[in-house]
Amino acid sequence: MAANGSMVIPGRAWSVEAAMGHCVIWPGAAVPALPADRYDGRAYARELVELLAWGVERGINGIDILHGERGGYADPGGLLLEDEACRLGLPFAVGGHVGHCFPAWIPAAVTASRPELCRVDADGVRRPTGNLCTADPEALGRALGMLSMLHDRHPAARLLQVFPDDVVGGSWCHCARCRDRSPVAQYATLVAAVAGVVEARRPGTQVGFLLYHDTLSGLPEPAAVGVSGFLPPNVYALFAPRERCYAHAIDDPACPRNQAYWQHLVRAASLFPGRVDVFEYYGDTILWHYFNVAIPAVIAADLQAYHRLGVREVQALAFGSYSVWAHGANLAAFAGLSAGQAADPDTAVARYASERYGHRAADCMVTYYQALAAAQCGYLSMCDYPEEWTCDLRGVGPASPHYSAHRERVATARAAFAGLPDLLAAAARHGGGSREAACLHAEQVSLENARTELDLLDLRLAIGERATAGGAGAWTEAETAATVAARQGQWDLAQAVPAEIRGQAFGALAP
Ligand SMILES: [Zn+2]
Ligand SMILES: [Zn+2]
Repeated sequence: MAANGSMVIPGRAWSVEAAMGHCVIWPGAAVPALPADRYDGRAYARELVELLAWGVERGINGIDILHGERGGYADPGGLLLEDEACRLGLPFAVGGHVGHCFPAWIPAAVTASRPELCRVDADGVRRPTGNLCTADPEALGRALGMLSMLHDRHPAARLLQVFPDDVVGGSWCHCARCRDRSPVAQYATLVAAVAGVVEARRPGTQVGFLLYHDTLSGLPEPAAVGVSGFLPPNVYALFAPRERCYAHAIDDPACPRNQAYWQHLVRAASLFPGRVDVFEYYGDTILWHYFNVAIPAVIAADLQAYHRLGVREVQALAFGSYSVWAHGANLAAFAGLSAGQAADPDTAVARYASERYGHRAADCMVTYYQALAAAQCGYLSMCDYPEEWTCDLRGVGPASPHYSAHRERVATARAAFAGLPDLLAAAARHGGGSREAACLHAEQVSLENARTELDLLDLRLAIGERATAGGAGAWTEAETAATVAARQGQWDLAQAVPAEIRGQAFGALAP
């Protein structure tokens, strides 16, 4: 039974990357590859199973298992999670970033002798990279063959996600047959074909249509193909507003950036009536890095908006124990609010704080999370960046007049962060067992790492400011070295946090 004033979204799911080892973490600066000894795939798989159990207790009722770049072959962690979902009777989806695999599906020996199977880039060059030529019967057939094998390997999956290589500017085909068709039209060709194949093999299976970057901004186009019945009814939109503003709700009329995303979603809801899912980033290690982001009030407002629009399912991306450490208040708020177990964000956070830090420290921790939310609002604000500026907190984007104002907001946030350690110290005085003390200490480390992250964000914005003014856009050696040293410091500091709290995804953050 939903509490008063709360809502229940039919589908509320974790969305997880089944393996972290492949994640490319740090754009801009040249950083070393992930050291092998910082990531244990089996330990990560166990974390995902624990995360699922933790979520189910809080009302999570499904899971999307993103299998990453494995040529369509499932990661062992994903299979373990799939078994667990079956045991719990939870619906689950598979697939994910299969677009990165398209080149792997046509062996290099084949494309070497028959380059016509490769896509043509904007300069007219055949490329064995990116997406495929959907106008080529053999290339499309090979993709369908691989995707139907993937589908067959997961006989209990209710939905197949087919994420293309979705980059701004597209990595689709510019051959004579494709050049007049936008990225979204080419992607729709693939998804429609896949939807037909899976429906024939296992009736009732659904397929996701990712609305993200090129396939989001190109959204008006599938209206035409949708009306003509081009996309079958078993295709569900997956709205992924990754570069939205997280200082404000998705439908906030005062945030121009979110308004643009919201209008895309409203349009999607009319094109895919009753068939829109949302992929949210409330626990995204990659997007937020070492920031201990806590935005339960924004999440509450988001969920109200998604609920009003009739969204079928909202998913929150999470990366195992690290996401609970760094973004646990978000995940708890997402689960509790969307399931109707909590009527407001403070109630959801209070329950989370009580369970994690002990009931005597809970009030102090609720105060801490409120202060953290207020302090971080400035640096999370992306309101004024235009929609085509598709960057985020991790890197420096293209020239923009907004970097200077953003740096000022970072400075304000840094000043506000100075008061946060005292709030944690107050919580620590309320004691608790050794487990609660370890969690509190971990929160202190997380806060310290976030303060370093603010310095690094300021550095990245300064580089963007310099490039915008006509100076060098590339990182200097000193800037790269300072970033690498700061990251090493964050890593060193985190070694005092027990591995089961820290999680494997933390180790996947390089260097
Ligand atoms: Zn083509
Ligand atoms: Zn905003």
